[in-house]
Amino acid sequence: MKKKKNISTHYVSAIIIFICAVVISLGVFLLYVQKSIDTNSQKTMTSNVAKQSDHALSILNIHYGFLNSIADKMGDSSDILSDENIELLVSLAANTDFERTALIEADGTAYYDNGAIKNVAQRKYFLEAMKGQATLSDPLDSSIDQETRVILCVPVRCNDRIIGALGGFYNVTALSQMLFNDIFDDAGYSLIVTKEGEIIAYDGEPSYHKITYGDNFFDFYKDRTLLSKNSLVNVKKDFSAGNDGLIKIRTDSNKKSDQYIAYTRLGMNDWMICYVIPVSDAQSSYSFIKSYEGIFMSVFFILVLLLVFYIIHNNHIRNEELRRDAQTDGLTGVLNKRTTEARINEILEQRPHEKGTFIILDVDKFKEVNDHYGHAVGDIVLSTLGQTLRNYFRENDIIGRIGGDEFVIYMCKTESKERAVTRIQALADTIKNLSFAEMNGQHVTISIGISFAPEHGTCYMDLYKNADTALYETKQNGRDGYFLFQKQDSII
Ligand code: GH3
Ligand code: MG
Repeated sequence: MKKKKNISTHYVSAIIIFICAVVISLGVFLLYVQKSIDTNSQKTMTSNVAKQSDHALSILNIHYGFLNSIADKMGDSSDILSDENIELLVSLAANTDFERTALIEADGTAYYDNGAIKNVAQRKYFLEAMKGQATLSDPLDSSIDQETRVILCVPVRCNDRIIGALGGFYNVTALSQMLFNDIFDDAGYSLIVTKEGEIIAYDGEPSYHKITYGDNFFDFYKDRTLLSKNSLVNVKKDFSAGNDGLIKIRTDSNKKSDQYIAYTRLGMNDWMICYVIPVSDAQSSYSFIKSYEGIFMSVFFILVLLLVFYIIHNNHIRNEELRRDAQTDGLTGVLNKRTTEARINEILEQRPHEKGTFIILDVDKFKEVNDHYGHAVGDIVLSTLGQTLRNYFRENDIIGRIGGDEFVIYMCKTESKERAVTRIQALADTIKNLSFAEMNGQHVTISIGISFAPEHGTCYMDLYKNADTALYETKQNGRDGYFLFQKQDSII
């Protein structure tokens, strides 16, 4: 019994070790999958922000090209403020994305398309344009119509001499919209910031991202938790050097608020372009992996459960087989001696007042069968007897082989001795009628001794002794018959 328990314990330990090993491997696997998703999303982010930067530059270059071609046309006339040029200036504002246009004389006097005049001699964008560069101003609050704008400014040349500049004004919001083209289905937002962190432009809803003009990028993100190794000090260094980079931040205590900020150099005015997107959106294209992980885990646990049930079930069946083997006589299929005695005692203890019939059955002159036909034929006879007994008696009756050619049967719930004897006689006849081909059709007979419980004993040993006494009488009286045990040694 102890050994069986140990086997089960080994099984359970093996299953637990197996499950732990698989769960740990799965955990490590899923961790690496998540890490890989993170790395890939970051790569995508970095590549997207680089694409946006290229996109922004190409749009600006188109606008510069356009402004330059107009400026070339305006340079045909040595009078920069010719009627034709002013007409062109007005139509430029009316028909393009430029909200306002201005022709600036060499002394810095700017003539706007709406008729306004202003001196911009000290403006950096003008000074650089007069040096022959196409320039883009920082956002400026226009004193003409109180809008924040950036200005694209190109020189106007007449016979290779710079005679003034042509400026196109963009509303900052329009610039943001023009520059940014959201890649993650409108999720997240973009920022253009100076290397000091001043916001030049942004897209998306300010109420959503909360950062706006006048904010400083570094001050705004100072209080957020940085989840990546990069620190804001390093980001500042990257901005100064115009390097690419990416940070992961948590805006509040909730993991859902995690955001990636990827940044790169815009290639204009030392500005940096930043792309800010919730991590969940950045990783949304990998969400199918998460659902597969869920399906995989469910299937895995179902399979593990099935495996556990299978092992437990098999173990149970195996134990049952072992138990049955340990209790059964291999040759005849009836119970062995030890189990026969134990089972009969169990019944007698549980139901001490119930009437039962104890029968010993011994083959007559079995030695001669062995001697005459061989031991193997003797085995066939014993095996056939075992089969016959199992077929003859009820499920609840106990049938066992307790010696060479000796069987014990205990018939439970004996209603009357007469009925029991009738059944035993019929059994003896059945056996006598068995014809063994291996013995050239010969038959065997049996001698029987009978005792009754509780009258002749309340335990196996007493009933056995008394039935054996009766059997002895049968043998003495010429065999092939039965005797009932009688108290005071009287046998009938
Ligand atoms: P009796 O009528 O007095 O019972 O005579 P018997 O020859 O049957 O004598 P007994 O019952 O004492 O002999 C039983 C014999 O059964 C002895 C042994 O050789 C034989 N025997 C015991 N076990 C086996 C077995 O497993 N297979 C075979 N073939 N023979 C067995
Ligand atoms: Mg015998």
